[in-house]
Amino acid sequence: MAITFETQHSAVNRIEAIQSFGCLIRFDEKLQKILQVSTNLQENLGISVETALSSSPKDILGSKLHQRLLQALSASTRLASALMINRQVAGSYQRFYVMAYRSNASIVVEFEPLSRSGEQRLMPIVNEWLSRLAQVQEIQSLQQMLVQSVQAVTGYDRVLLCQFDSHWHRTAIAEVCRDASRSLLNYRFPASDIPAEVRNRYSINPIRYVSDVNAGIVPFAPTSTDIAVPPLDLTAGMLRGLSPFHQQYLREIKVDASLSIAITGEQKLWGILTCHHFKAMQISAAERDAAFNLVQMATQRMFLLQARQQAMFLENVLNSRELLSAERDKVVQPTRLLDIYGRDWMQLFNCIGIALLYRNEVRCIGETLDTYEVDIVGRWLSTAIGNKPCWACDQLSQSPLDELVNLRNRAGLLAVPLPIEQSHSGWLLLFRRAQKTEYRWVAKKHIIETITQNPLQSAEERGYPIWIETVENEAQCWTSSEQNAAQDLAEDLAVAITVHQINRLNTELQRANTQLKEIAHTDTLTKIWNRYRMELAIDTELAAAERYGHPCSILLFDVDHFKQVNDTYGHDVGDQVLTGLADQVQAKLRASDFFGRWGGEEFIVLTSHNGLDEAMGLAERLRKHIESVVFETVGNITISIGVAEALLGKETRKQLIERADKAMYQAKQTGRNQIKAATAELSDS
Ligand code: GH3
Ligand code: MG
Ligand code: MG
Repeated sequence: MAITFETQHSAVNRIEAIQSFGCLIRFDEKLQKILQVSTNLQENLGISVETALSSSPKDILGSKLHQRLLQALSASTRLASALMINRQVAGSYQRFYVMAYRSNASIVVEFEPLSRSGEQRLMPIVNEWLSRLAQVQEIQSLQQMLVQSVQAVTGYDRVLLCQFDSHWHRTAIAEVCRDASRSLLNYRFPASDIPAEVRNRYSINPIRYVSDVNAGIVPFAPTSTDIAVPPLDLTAGMLRGLSPFHQQYLREIKVDASLSIAITGEQKLWGILTCHHFKAMQISAAERDAAFNLVQMATQRMFLLQARQQAMFLENVLNSRELLSAERDKVVQPTRLLDIYGRDWMQLFNCIGIALLYRNEVRCIGETLDTYEVDIVGRWLSTAIGNKPCWACDQLSQSPLDELVNLRNRAGLLAVPLPIEQSHSGWLLLFRRAQKTEYRWVAKKHIIETITQNPLQSAEERGYPIWIETVENEAQCWTSSEQNAAQDLAEDLAVAITVHQINRLNTELQRANTQLKEIAHTDTLTKIWNRYRMELAIDTELAAAERYGHPCSILLFDVDHFKQVNDTYGHDVGDQVLTGLADQVQAKLRASDFFGRWGGEEFIVLTSHNGLDEAMGLAERLRKHIESVVFETVGNITISIGVAEALLGKETRKQLIERADKAMYQAKQTGRNQIKAATAELSDS
């Protein structure tokens, strides 16, 4: 069985014939001349073909309809909706459904006789279904109710709702069928059944109606070869005849009558609602319209519910993002973010594992890959994906990654680069599990073989030979809103990571700065100021003292016989004595005194606002205090101190220190453990 169009559909365009449930008149584009008529004019309008061809359009249409059509088609190529008219045919009034459209430099007018009965009956039924459809909250229930409502209104044996996938294959997702053994629910149909040309026709006319596949078609008179008129495209009308291929297709699926209504969402064909009758069946134009309205209403609601679902998903993502941005202030490790939120994200994105990769760090949650494999994936992505905003794959086994890592049960990957630096140094990876799916294709084997490389198994089901395709390694595909949401998430993660990095660098920088300062100003052994820092302090103090006219003095002291300490107890003990001595002296000073190590076992005190007398007092207190301290291991030590008051404006720092040094030398000379004041004589240097 070939349930597919295999031959060129362009042939369909050239069918210049109509189905027999109505008649057609072709006029010139100004509605001034009749060019062709269908040969069943007599049965429908009670006018012979000859009479029609020799009459004026006004006579045939009646001046009222003629005027209306001229007006309506002046601005558009097709009537927005069919007109309902009354006409006398063979002495009695007959109602007609009139459709008119422009085609190939002609105006085509179709007449479809309407039965008077039924229309009144239809209204309440349709209204009832419309209000029921308007209340459904769940998408699948809505789809099921749609097929039910169309069946209730039209009476078709089988009503199928089919959805297209990205390859234009379609799957029957909802169905009502009077004969359960002929159900096609969940079956798949290849794209070649409804090729692009036929799909495009649905954008011109969303309804395709076939009342009886075996009824034969009605030709035109005169045939287009008799007069110089271009061929006619009947797409916009309702009566278009069947091509042999379409006829063959319907026979193969054992259907005598059909009605298809296209469903368009976001400028693109979303799916088709198809009605089948196993025997010939004509429905009224009003029923057809009712079915169309039900489809319109239900699909609008369906898109609304879908949008709502999507909004809910995005809101959840947004909530998670808000939590994430709150973490920025807490400066958590970026990888910790995955520990905190990973489970939520797994649920949100319906995945089995998430990996976060940045710089050389890899963090995983759930079922991902081994760390080194995640690293390989990241490196492959960086070279292969380039500047794309993300990479979504639902069949990893078909990707180069299959060669690089052991995918095990992972079939889906959504990889989003973390926009951290110019080079992609980070990735957010979401993994999905492989699931086994069986597709039941209603199509010829060679067609399926061009679609898939998966194993096929033939079966006889529902009276048709079908092909079962088993897909083992496919994951649920990543929707565009999931891809967008993951990108938003990655952006937030990148910000968190960057903030963390900046914070870390700042802390490191601060520490380094403090260290540098300490190294520059502090003596590493005693932790008091070093010589360089003391020199700065003396310079500053000398300048201030000179400017404000207050005195200042320095005390230079040296440990007596310190060499012996080292020699007797070792250098380490000597170090301890120096540290202990510094602490002892520091404790005796005022906050306004400065104290530093001058070098070796020599120290210096800068005492501000103190003249020589006060400085001598301080020196004596220090000398006495040190003399009394018992140092660990060593016991008592003594110091000799030279004291000098600065000769403000007369000497340099160097000269001041030399004078103190001289005084200290004198103290050594005169027996140590004593203090000596420097003379006010300037040194030579
Ligand atoms: P004086 O009473 O004449 O000052 O005798 P002294 O032994 O203290 O003088 P000298 O200058 O001969 O020796 C000073 C010693 O101080 C020599 C050196 O080994 C020691 N010294 C200098 N800096 C340090 C240090 O940082 N740690 C230790 N343990 N010893 C030091
Ligand atoms: Mg010394
Ligand atoms: Mg000494």
